[in-house]
Formats: sequence, structure tokens, C-alpha cells
Amino acid sequence: APPKKGKPKWLRVKLPTGKKYTELRGLVDKYNLHTICTSGSCPNMGECWGEGTATFMILGNVCTRSCGFCGVKTGRPETIDWEEPEKVARSIKIMSIKHAVITSVDRDDLKDMGSIIWAETVKAIRRMNPNTTLETLIPDFQGEERNIDRIVDVSPEVVSHNMETVRRLTREVRIQAKYDRSLEVLKYLKTQGINRTKSGIMLGLGEQEEEVIETLHDLRNANVDVVTIGQYLQPSKKHLPVKQFITPDQFKKYEEIGLDLGFRHVESGALVRSSYKAHKHIK
Ligand code: SF4
Ligand code: SF4
Repeated sequence: APPKKGKPKWLRVKLPTGKKYTELRGLVDKYNLHTICTSGSCPNMGECWGEGTATFMILGNVCTRSCGFCGVKTGRPETIDWEEPEKVARSIKIMSIKHAVITSVDRDDLKDMGSIIWAETVKAIRRMNPNTTLETLIPDFQGEERNIDRIVDVSPEVVSHNMETVRRLTREVRIQAKYDRSLEVLKYLKTQGINRTKSGIMLGLGEQEEEVIETLHDLRNANVDVVTIGQYLQPSKKHLPVKQFITPDQFKKYEEIGLDLGFRHVESGALVRSSYKAHKHIK
């Protein structure tokens, strides 16, 4: 039944703590650094930052797409900031990030769909932080290999692209995306020699168990190595409603199914976000 009052107890989170967290929080405030961890008030900050992992968004704060679950603003995006690669690389240095996750809004307005800034960002990070490992959580680039190749060429340790939901709900959840196109992107990355590929889905949008299992099969068939499964939470009243809170037992069940299917890592739990425990996924 649709949840009426409040969240179940397993979704209640404690405020992030820890020495490392406090230290990084101070730096982020002092230098006005932008991480998704803080802008999305992610519940995992204490844990991730404690391990030296953080997520950074590039190509602005306005997206050309309008996914029903996403809190990012839709509209005409800002002009490209060619200094952005350096700025992100510097933030990573200031924060002494060991494993960085880079993601972006979708830039369907640009000819290269943002792939040039993507590649420049990876290069700048490598130059300034030679020991930092990277996950690039990329858009579908409308499936254009030319753009995907720019990512492949700078060889991030992990390349991820999120399916977000099951096949049937894709139209509703990610109106401008296509389920099969996303699978093709993931499959292509692997054929191009990317060592670790990864994808994520959110539950609680009205999907059935068999549909989740079907998506796990589809991802394995696309040779995806890592999958993350988390609870969808509504960013605002204007977004898709939460249809169901998935129980911890159910998350556990998906984890076991995923591991049986042969994924190297399955992160499955209510508070799992696609970059949760990301540092583990290199291996
Ligand atoms: Fe940041 Fe992702 Fe960790 Fe949340 S799960 S704190 S967004 S790295
Ligand atoms: Fe949000 Fe990404 Fe969809 Fe843009 S493409 S609305 S950033 S999920």
C-alpha cells in the first residue's frame, strides 16, 4: 500500500559524523566546493567521506532532460565553463579524495553532448591527483559512439550508467531515455575494454519483483560488473510519488539474486545511492 505517514524506521538516518567528515565539511564550506553529497544531503556522507570518496557534478546545474525522479532543475543550461575541469580537479586535491565519482547533467543541447568537457575533466583530475581513482557516471550521450569513445579514451577505472528503473517504467521515470539504448551503452563500454562497468536502479516506483529480476538479467547480459539497488525517495511534491517502501529483507533477496547472476558487486539497501561504497567497485 502507498505509504501514508512517515518513513519506515530503516530509512531514518543519523546525521553524518566522524573526524574525517568534520574536516572535509570545513574545507567544502571554506572553499565553497560543490559535491553532490552535500547538495543532495546524501545520508551516506559520514561513511563515504570517511573513506575518501565523494561525487562531483559537471556541466552545470541545469539539465536538458526532465526525469520524473530527479531533483535537478530542467531548462536551458548555462554556457560551458572551460575552467570547470581544473576547478573539479582542485576540489579533489583540496579534499584529498582517494576515489572520485564524476557525474553530469545531460547536455542534449551541445553537439558533443558535453563529452569534451567530460574528457578534459578526467585528464585534469589525473594531472593534479595521479593517485586518485575515478568512476565516471555518464549520460547515455544518445548512444553516440563518438561521444562515448571520448570517455573510453581517458580510461576511468569504473564507467557507470544508470538504468534507474525497470523496462516498463522507463518512459514514465526517464522520459527522454530508452531502456534498450542504455543497455547498449553499457554493453558497448565493455566491448571497448572498460575494466569495470556499473549501473544502478531505484525501487519503490511501482515495479514488480519479476521486473527487477528481469533488469538484473538484462544488465548481466550486457556484461555489467556492478549493480546498485536503492530506495527511491521523492525529492519534492512535483516528482513521482513513492509507491512502496522496499523492506530490508527484499533488498537482501535482490542482493543474493544479483550475486548468483554473477555480478562482482551488488550494493542493495534502502539508503544505497549509485556512488555508495564506490571505492570498492574498482576491484
Ligand atoms: Fe556522496 Fe554518493 Fe556517498 Fe552519497 S553515496 S555521500 S552522494 S559519494
Ligand atoms: Fe536528472 Fe540526469 Fe535525468 Fe537530467 S538526465 S533530469 S540530471 S537524472
